[in-house]
Amino acid sequence: MKCAYCGKETKGTKEHIISSAILDLFPECYLTYDGLRKKVYKSDPMIKDVCAKCNNERISYIDSYAKKIISQYFTQKYTDQDTVEIEYNYTMIQKMLLKYAFNDMRSHKDDYSYFDEEILHFLMGEKDNVPKKYITVLCGLAVNVSPVPDALLGNLKLQWCKDPIIYSNSVIRNIDYETGEIFLNDDVKKLCFDDLKLSYLFRFNSAQFLLMCWDKCSTKIRKNNIILSFQYPYYLMKLEDKKAKLPVCTNGFNYHSFGFINAKWDLLFEVDLMRLAAYGGEYKLKEIYEKEWEKEEEKIKKKYSR
Ligand SMILES: [Zn+2]
Repeated sequence: MKCAYCGKETKGTKEHIISSAILDLFPECYLTYDGLRKKVYKSDPMIKDVCAKCNNERISYIDSYAKKIISQYFTQKYTDQDTVEIEYNYTMIQKMLLKYAFNDMRSHKDDYSYFDEEILHFLMGEKDNVPKKYITVLCGLAVNVSPVPDALLGNLKLQWCKDPIIYSNSVIRNIDYETGEIFLNDDVKKLCFDDLKLSYLFRFNSAQFLLMCWDKCSTKIRKNNIILSFQYPYYLMKLEDKKAKLPVCTNGFNYHSFGFINAKWDLLFEVDLMRLAAYGGEYKLKEIYEKEWEKEEEKIKKKYSR
């Protein structure tokens, strides 16, 4: 077979879809659930089409950076009251997400022609530190503001999906504040961006990254970036910024239903506040459950240590 990166004829070595170094940070998440194939398995998600040289030498610097940034900021959970400011290297963030998307697409036998020689050289070139203008990355904090504890719906700290649904408008039309009844917006459309070739959404515990890959010759990228940064609760990452204050990008619905991106003005965010107020300002049962779960999780971490 041909190596997916350098193209040389070779015997494939196993390449993790998401770096093993990141999986090592979350040993309690020891099962893999493949939603597309509807399969659960115990081993790590991997693909076997990369030569030893690319795997161990050419692209491994990306894994080192990924481990560094995730372990520095995102192994802990946050509340919506926390202020989280991160320092980041934009080029490395682009490379990390592109690599994972590329791995995932190959593992699903998707059309990955977007990953042409230019992108592959970018990924293999450790010294190449000029980010790609036709790639956009947004980042936000994933915070569980719902009354449902995380572990109740599965220990889903690491998730990713291709082409997340980005809503063009609020999915709730209005709220009756007297009764608390909500009325859905039935015809809310998915926002279709001009010249979008592919997109991915990643969750690394308390962080979410949205990767948007545009047509390389597109003249609409600037306009699309403005739409994304003004309409959605995410921070638009850029080369000039080294630091970012991350907004909370999840609500009670899309925290547990991964793959949906709601507009900033979505009334779902209002519903969260309303629900919390109805509970008297805190979710006591959730807190008790989560404290107990933390103890359980320590045991699982030991049992499945990597
Ligand atoms: Zn290779």
